[in-house]
Amino acid sequence: MSNDLQSLYERASRFAELKHTGQIRKGPQPVPYITHPREVVRILSEEAGVTDEVILAAAVLHDTIEDTGTHEEELREQFGAEVARIVAEVSDNKLFCKDTRKAFQVMHAPHLSTAARLVKLADKIANLRDIASPRGPGWNAQRTAEYFAWARQVAEGLAGVNARLDAAFAEVHARGTSPQQAG
Ligand code: ZN
Repeated sequence: MSNDLQSLYERASRFAELKHTGQIRKGPQPVPYITHPREVVRILSEEAGVTDEVILAAAVLHDTIEDTGTHEEELREQFGAEVARIVAEVSDNKLFCKDTRKAFQVMHAPHLSTAARLVKLADKIANLRDIASPRGPGWNAQRTAEYFAWARQVAEGLAGVNARLDAAFAEVHARGTSPQQAG
């Protein structure tokens, strides 16, 4: 049983790595994109204590529909209906413009499944940490402030599932919005 579950995550991780091949995370030192979903998995497992392999598999796959053109059906065939549903839940519909997608995230957050809320909140924590980091994308103060304000709105709708994730989000949000940015 546990071997099967473990291989589910390992298969998902390899699948995600393959799908994100050639994509990079921007920054002073660009890193392969797969670093990001694996960091979301690390936050869930190490920081939040999540052990459910279905959730961890969905976490490593969470950007494959949105950013690699993977279809939900493919995820369903490979990893089962539950993993596919979670990934679909945390994926923006790219038919809409960016502002609409961001508004939808705020609206939809409180209505997501528990598993999707965990993945989405860990994703937001990872993104805010990247943006606040010296190794991050180097956004100016205004763009950073706008992103943090929006992320907080989404996070408010996701809160209440895992206290450690809620605390981690509050910590990075406070760090990123403290009045110390130069210029
Ligand atoms: Zn992500």
